Amino acid sequence: MNQPDLFDFQESGIINIAELFRKGYKKVIAISPGGSGKTVISAAQTQKFHLKQYQKETKKKVAFFTHREELFDQTRDKFLRFGNITEPINANTSNINPNSDTFVVMVETFDRRCISNDFLLNFKDVGLLFIDEAHRTDFNKILHHFDNALIQGWTATPISAKKSIPLNSIWDTCIEIATVSQLQKLNAINPEQGVVPCDCYNLGKVDRDKLKVKGIDFDEKKMSSDFSGSLQVDNVLENYYSYGKGMKGLCFNVDIEHNQTMHDNFVAAGVPSRQLHSDSKKHYGAPKSSLAKNWRKDTVLWLKNTEGAIIHNVGILTTGFDEPSVELVITNYSSLSLPKVVQSHVRGARAYFNTKTKKWKDYYRWLDFGKNCSYFNTDGNNDLPWIYYFNNPNDTKPKEGVSAMKTCPICGNLNSPASRFCSGLKEDWLYSEYKVCGYEFPIVTKEEDLIPREMVKFFVDGISVLDIISIGKKQGWKDGAVFFKILEAVSDMCILRFGLFIEEEHFDFLLNISVNKMKEFGKIVGKRYWKDFIKPALIEALNKKGIIFDVGINLEVEEIPE
Ligand SMILES: [Zn+2]
Repeated sequence: MNQPDLFDFQESGIINIAELFRKGYKKVIAISPGGSGKTVISAAQTQKFHLKQYQKETKKKVAFFTHREELFDQTRDKFLRFGNITEPINANTSNINPNSDTFVVMVETFDRRCISNDFLLNFKDVGLLFIDEAHRTDFNKILHHFDNALIQGWTATPISAKKSIPLNSIWDTCIEIATVSQLQKLNAINPEQGVVPCDCYNLGKVDRDKLKVKGIDFDEKKMSSDFSGSLQVDNVLENYYSYGKGMKGLCFNVDIEHNQTMHDNFVAAGVPSRQLHSDSKKHYGAPKSSLAKNWRKDTVLWLKNTEGAIIHNVGILTTGFDEPSVELVITNYSSLSLPKVVQSHVRGARAYFNTKTKKWKDYYRWLDFGKNCSYFNTDGNNDLPWIYYFNNPNDTKPKEGVSAMKTCPICGNLNSPASRFCSGLKEDWLYSEYKVCGYEFPIVTKEEDLIPREMVKFFVDGISVLDIISIGKKQGWKDGAVFFKILEAVSDMCILRFGLFIEEEHFDFLLNISVNKMKEFGKIVGKRYWKDFIKPALIEALNKKGIIFDVGINLEVEEIPE
C-alpha cells in the first residue's frame, strides 16, 4: 500500500500547525473545507508525531474522535496508509489492545464508557488528539479527560453550533489549511481532487425583512407556513424544472410539515423523491424501531443508486454527510446562520466521476429560495473570512464596503461583483434549450472603493511600490492581494487621467505601467512577478471599475516581451 503524496497546502498546513503547538497553543482548530483531505493530513501528522515520540522515547499516543460511522473506517484506512495501525473504539468494541498507540474513537462510545476508570486508563498517555467537526459542541464533554494533550479540531465552518459557547472560548487559536478557491483550482487541474465550482441561483420570492426572528434565527413556525404557501411551492417546482430537473439532489426544508409538503409536491410532479427528518414515529405512523433505525441508511443508499433522485430533509444531511454524486442542492429556508447555509450547499461540491456518462462532475448547482446567498454575499465560490468569524462569531453579516454579488434580474444567477455580463443559464421556453444568459449589468460608476484613498493618491503621484506594499502589510494583505490592489490603483489612475472610455494607446500605457510596477513588486518580495497574469488581471480590474474599451484594443492574452 503506497503512502499518498501530500499536496503543498497539506504539507504547509502540517508545518504551520506544529509551529502553533511549538509556540505553546494547546488547542488549535484547523479550518478546512470538505475535499481538503483532513483524514490524510491527520494521518500524516500522526505518523510524524509517533516518530518524534519514538525518538524521545516518551511514546505518547494519538486519538482521532469522530461522530460519524461513515468516517470511522475511512479514517482507519487513511491512517493505515501512513503506517499507523489503529485501534477502533465504537459500540462493537469489547477488548482494547493495551499496546495500541493510535485510536479511532466514536465520541458517543467514549462518553458512555468513560465512567469506567479501566476504560480511561487506555487514554492516559494520549499526547495528540483530533476532533472531527469541531464546530459541534457535544465533544466539549470529553475534552477535560485530555488536559495534557495537544488538541486539534477540524471544521469547515469555525462558528459554534451553540451561540452561548463560541469556539474562541474553547480553542486557543485557529488556522486556515485550505480555502474553497484553492480546492477549486486543484480540481481544475485534476478532476479527481478538490471541489467543483458552484453555479448559484438566487430565486427566493420571500421577503426576509418580514420573517420573524426568534432567538438566534428566524421563527420556524411562521417561516414554515410562509414557505408552504402555493406561491413559494410553485416557485420551487418551476425553478427545479428550469435548473435542476434530472440532477441528483438534496432539498433542505424548514420543518417536518414543510418537508412533507415539498416531498408530496415533488412526488405528484413525478420526481423520484424521498424524505428524511428527525421524527421517525411520525414518518412511519407508529414506532417501528428497526425500520426507523435504517431509515437514513436506506434513503441515502437509494439516493446513491437512483438517477435524478431528490431527498427532502430538515437539516439532517448536512455536516458529515458525503455523497459525491449529489450535483444539486436546494436551500428552501431562510436562515441567519452562515454555517447552516454553507453546510447545506457544500454537499454538492465533492469531486465525482459518473461511471454511466463517463464524465467528471464539473460543477454543482445551488438553488437558494431563502435569499441566503445574497444575504451572506456568497455564491459558493468566494472565500469567506473564516478567521474573522472565528474571532467575531456574532458578526457574520458581510461588511459595508464589501462589493455585493449581483443577482441577475433575468435568470437569478448570482454573479461575482466584478461581472459585467451574467454567466447564468436562460431557458428558451419554446425549445427547452439553454443559453448563457448574458444579461449586461448596468455600470455602477461609484463602486465601493476597496483601496484606501491615500494609496491611490500615492500611486498617481508616482510614489514607489514599496509604499503600497507597506500599506498592504498594515492591512494584512497577502502578496496576491497586493498584486490586485496595484492593478486597482492603475484603474483608478486611468479614470482620473482618461475617463471611463479608453483607446488603444491608453490601454498600452496602462499595461506598460502595470508590467513595470509588477516587476518592481516582484523584485521587492523576491518572487516572479506573475507576468502572464498581468494583462488579464488588468482587464478585469478595469472592467470592475466600469471602464469601457475601444473595439481596437487587443484583449487577447499573449506573451508579454521581457
Ligand atoms: Zn442572468
